[in-house]
Amino acid sequence: MIPYPDVQLYIDGKWRPASDGRTIPVLDPATAGPIGTVAHASREDLDAALAAAERGFRLWRQTSAYDRARLMRKAAQILRDRAEDVATLLVRENGKPLAQARMETLAGADVIDWFAGEAQRAYGQVIPSRAPDVVQMTMKLPVGPVAAFTPWNFPINQVVRKLSAALAAGCSIIVKAPEETPASPAELIRAFADAGLPDGVANLVFGVPAEISEYLIPHPVIRKISFTGSTPVGKQLAALAGLHMKRATMELGGHAPVIVTRDADLDQAAATIIPQKFRNAGQVCVSPTRYLVQDPLADSFADRFAEAARKLRVGNGLDPETEMGPLANERRIPALEALVADAVSHGARLLTGGRRIGNEGWFFEPTVLADVPVAARIMNEEPFGPVAIVNRFSALDDAIAEANRLPYALAAYAFTRDTATATRLAAEVEAGMLTINHLGLALPEIPFGGMKDSGHGTEGGSEAMDAYLETRLVTRKG
Ligand code: NAD
Repeated sequence: MIPYPDVQLYIDGKWRPASDGRTIPVLDPATAGPIGTVAHASREDLDAALAAAERGFRLWRQTSAYDRARLMRKAAQILRDRAEDVATLLVRENGKPLAQARMETLAGADVIDWFAGEAQRAYGQVIPSRAPDVVQMTMKLPVGPVAAFTPWNFPINQVVRKLSAALAAGCSIIVKAPEETPASPAELIRAFADAGLPDGVANLVFGVPAEISEYLIPHPVIRKISFTGSTPVGKQLAALAGLHMKRATMELGGHAPVIVTRDADLDQAAATIIPQKFRNAGQVCVSPTRYLVQDPLADSFADRFAEAARKLRVGNGLDPETEMGPLANERRIPALEALVADAVSHGARLLTGGRRIGNEGWFFEPTVLADVPVAARIMNEEPFGPVAIVNRFSALDDAIAEANRLPYALAAYAFTRDTATATRLAAEVEAGMLTINHLGLALPEIPFGGMKDSGHGTEGGSEAMDAYLETRLVTRKG
């Protein structure tokens, strides 16, 4: 097995330790034991990354879209060729099952390929003018050096969307990747470095997230911010970005409703959406959480859920039999235990789970709660763990009202065989993304983003490029 590395910073085309030699330990979620370290960037390192990103931007913006795309496709292929090793590192640091880590790595390569294509389609417009001798046109220009902050739940996927869109647009970037899971994002950056990305175009740093964001966001070199993480942190960073007139994309928390109507195909709905709760141990911003099931199906759906949760094979992600790994952070265990206890104290029925498993690593039981009152904290706070809520409804109006009750509006799911119901849900459910009768989210070519407190901007589809482009008008007479 590939040994877990001591992860370094990547600044101005060089892998290097922190200037003052500081490191942060990296722990294996399956054992809680140390597996390596990651370099802790000093202020001097951040200044070096900023200077490199400024130089890198001058060079990269002059590189033709064709050449940018060609280099990106090469990086995608390198990542594919190394997928097995990269996925293994990802499992060691994050805990997810190897099959999911492999899928994340290969999907990352697809994201790069797709944005490489978009690089060549960043079209401006020619706008009909009011006078025959006037030409009015717009050009799409890269916004400038980007600061990107990404979390530990999808260490590759969260970086690759920002990195690929930025590079496709002609921006340079400083990535502040997660300290808990540094090796797999470093391997992503290495794929670009080895593909020949010019020095300074992509830089990678780690450290204390708040210290880095407070320094980079106001810095005059940085022109664009992209953050994925929790809503409270996102609001702070968006405020800071606003104060300094920096554009910001915010991919924040969610609390996804799943509406299952009585006309749904129950077998298909259950088989499709129940396992989704436990993907990545529920540490997914689009994880289905509030399952709203129309009577008379609710009890049968809840029973199936509890049975599936009990049967789930929980273990070390490197074991091929494992279906759900540990949580990525120890701090989520007391958080989940408290949410479950609070729900039960409000009268919820705990159908299965609710506790830590064993005392080695950060494993948590797949958990199903039923008939949870809205006053319970878990009906209002994102669990970010393997905990599902199954509640019943009788009138569709009530299910839509419940779906829209929270300030979150990221993903929503629905299962219905009635076209009128599907049409109504599409119009009325407040969510950046709604997927009906299947799982259709997170492909590179479709938008990925939220509304309300779940953030703004999209990290998929053609619109994702707009976040890294400015529109310049040129109007010429004669
Ligand atoms: P957290 O709020 O402490 O951190 C979330 C992420 O933001 C982490 O990656 C962290 O490094 C980063 N971060 C925190 N403060 C920052 C700052 N001032 N500047 C820059 N980055 C900063 O929460 P956590 O315990 O790591 O994760 C749990 C919560 O985070 C969840 O409830 C969930 O809402 C959210 N989260 C969301 C996503 C997502 O995909 N949208 C991913 C991970 C975590």
